[in-house]
Amino acid sequence: MDGGPPSFTARAKKLVRDHRGPLTRDLLRSPGGFGLGQVPTKLKPDATTTMVCGYCSTGCSLHVHMKDGQAINLSASTEYPVNLGMACPKGWEALTPLSAPDRATVPMVRDRRGGALKPVEWSAALETFVDRMKRIQEKHGKESVAFISTGQIPMEEMAFLGALTKFGMGVLHGDGNTRQCMATSVVAYKQSFGFDAPPYTYQDFEESDVIVFIGANPCIAHPIMWERVCRNRHDPTVVVIDPRRTETAQQSQMHVPLAPKSDLYLLYGLARLLCRNDWLDHDFIRAHTNDFDAFVEHVEPYEPGLVSDKTGISAEQLEALARTIHEGKRVSFWWTMGVNQSHEGVRTAQAIINLALMTGNIGRPGTGANSITGQCNAMGSRLFSNTTNLLGGHAFGNPEHRQKVAQAIGIDEGVIPEEPSWAYDRIMEGILQGEIKGLWIIATNTAHSWINQGDAHEILKQLDFLVVQDMYHTTETAAFADLVLPAAGSGEKEGCFINSERRLGLTKQVSKAPGQALSDFRIFQLLAAAWGCGDMFERWRSPEDVFQILKECSRDMPCDISGIADYQMIDELGGIQWPLPEGDTVPRKSQRRLFEDGQFCTADGRARFVFEDPRPTPEVADESFPFTLLTGRGSSSQWHTQTRTGKSNVLKSLYPNEPYVEVNPADARSIGIHTNDWAIVRSRRGALRARAFVSHVVQAGQVFIPMHFATTNQLTFPSFDPYSRQPSYKACAVSLEPA
Ligand code: SF4
Repeated sequence: MDGGPPSFTARAKKLVRDHRGPLTRDLLRSPGGFGLGQVPTKLKPDATTTMVCGYCSTGCSLHVHMKDGQAINLSASTEYPVNLGMACPKGWEALTPLSAPDRATVPMVRDRRGGALKPVEWSAALETFVDRMKRIQEKHGKESVAFISTGQIPMEEMAFLGALTKFGMGVLHGDGNTRQCMATSVVAYKQSFGFDAPPYTYQDFEESDVIVFIGANPCIAHPIMWERVCRNRHDPTVVVIDPRRTETAQQSQMHVPLAPKSDLYLLYGLARLLCRNDWLDHDFIRAHTNDFDAFVEHVEPYEPGLVSDKTGISAEQLEALARTIHEGKRVSFWWTMGVNQSHEGVRTAQAIINLALMTGNIGRPGTGANSITGQCNAMGSRLFSNTTNLLGGHAFGNPEHRQKVAQAIGIDEGVIPEEPSWAYDRIMEGILQGEIKGLWIIATNTAHSWINQGDAHEILKQLDFLVVQDMYHTTETAAFADLVLPAAGSGEKEGCFINSERRLGLTKQVSKAPGQALSDFRIFQLLAAAWGCGDMFERWRSPEDVFQILKECSRDMPCDISGIADYQMIDELGGIQWPLPEGDTVPRKSQRRLFEDGQFCTADGRARFVFEDPRPTPEVADESFPFTLLTGRGSSSQWHTQTRTGKSNVLKSLYPNEPYVEVNPADARSIGIHTNDWAIVRSRRGALRARAFVSHVVQAGQVFIPMHFATTNQLTFPSFDPYSRQPSYKACAVSLEPA
């Protein structure tokens, strides 16, 4: 130490040793801290600064106007290449949830099940975490502690969490809530393109002449992306493939209202028609793909009669759709949760990819097989959460990858597990089976969002020790917690988000976290020190330090960001899309897409046609439960489990605050239900009360309930895609009756 001040690790260890007093302000203010919420000194107190919105994956930039070091208002950034001066209601209200009265402002411990959470000092909270988790590991093995992370925190924090748990604490299993939204696309891209590589840039919304949305409702779920469609000057034909007549379907030229979960039949039937009519790009197929002949053979049985029978779509409409795709010069295919959240989501996503490949609609402006991400940093999670992938898109099972990452981080290669984590559903199953005894949940709300909620609650109760790290102490999940760690929210810390088009954007601290709430980054630092592995993270002093480490981890991978100098470069260029290898140059405000040279990330540089016969829908409507329940986003003013958007009176005035169920008029008549009547919706797993909303938006035999209400997942059926383990929230059997 050369007589200098004691290192952070030494100070934190001391803190945990003599944990009687409050955390010293000195420790909380150490480099990279932002603890107790001080605004970074580089920011002038009355300056206008920017932050990337912390809700959805669009990644809009917001101008934040400061007074006396605090954010007082915001506006949408006009010069940012993503949102071009636009923001949706959530973005305009991004600051409001920070001042909610139920913010977690001090650590809280529950000393007995059913007792109340009681405030404790940070030092006691850290000691409780370490003591309880270590005792569990000693008794039941290292693998008996797991974590559930999130797509809502910056990538530097995700990486810290993944590295701390797996390399520092010996934890084997951790997953993210991104399993609930993006896992399907990850697997589909990896198998088809050789890497999890969404190929597009948002400019493609404005360049296409045919835009096909499959299981996607951007008017509601990604409003700024929809605004980009509206800026398209090529008079595009918009096609929406969705069982519901969604807001986007109502704006489209062609709505294809297929039966729920019949997508594979439709997409294979389309592929067959394209082949039969020779509406193919033979040059592209020959030069850049594998397995096309086998695919042609595979789709041959999907003749229009079969497709019509399974999907409810007429042969004429199928033909019209195939012709529209054929006649388009620049056709783009976009999908989101209607595809991803399915019992056969991966093969469905790949059926979309196959359409783009066989028609040569990839690697050119206005084209692509394009998965739209869900959360603000789902893409960051895919690359840097250290759960399914080793940091930087590497494989845990590959010895060269382990060696490379160990070198980049400066750790012993031996501490890196040789297997990826269990998926979220396997972790839940592990709790049920008594294999997982301690769980650490960070910035997600499992008790609300996990499929088949009744079971999820029982599973959480089985844990010996549950830690919830969150902005709020009132979430449905915090009600099960033994320890709550108060965390800063988006706007109270800095780091990078990676949006749907692979753009790294910088989010900054513009507000002070309340009370003793700390950035997740700071909490990880403190826990590393308290656990006794702080030395491993000596270089992880600030989010930007970690960014530099992650650059090294990404080097020579398809997601290489080694050419991004620092945060300032990201800020000045309006975000930067990956890849940007060292030595490469990037024009200001560039829009870049992948595979322009037809070279994919597979060993031979060719994309693969991947396909498989459809699987039976896990739970279909029957005599007792005659309706198919669809779930999805309710309005552009709501976000997921509403822990944040539910705090804004402005947003709450923009959607129904009581649970509601959309019912087709024919069904409403036969049951005797009218709009605003209370109805009971029941599945084999539970029942809820909801106001009826009678509407042609849903087809007869189907009902729709937004995902945001706390009771919705009491109904959902726990089935999963076999390859991605993503839950299938979108179709289960329910009954409906007047309340
Ligand atoms: Fe943009 Fe999404 Fe934020 Fe709305 S929620 S402002 S669309 S990033």
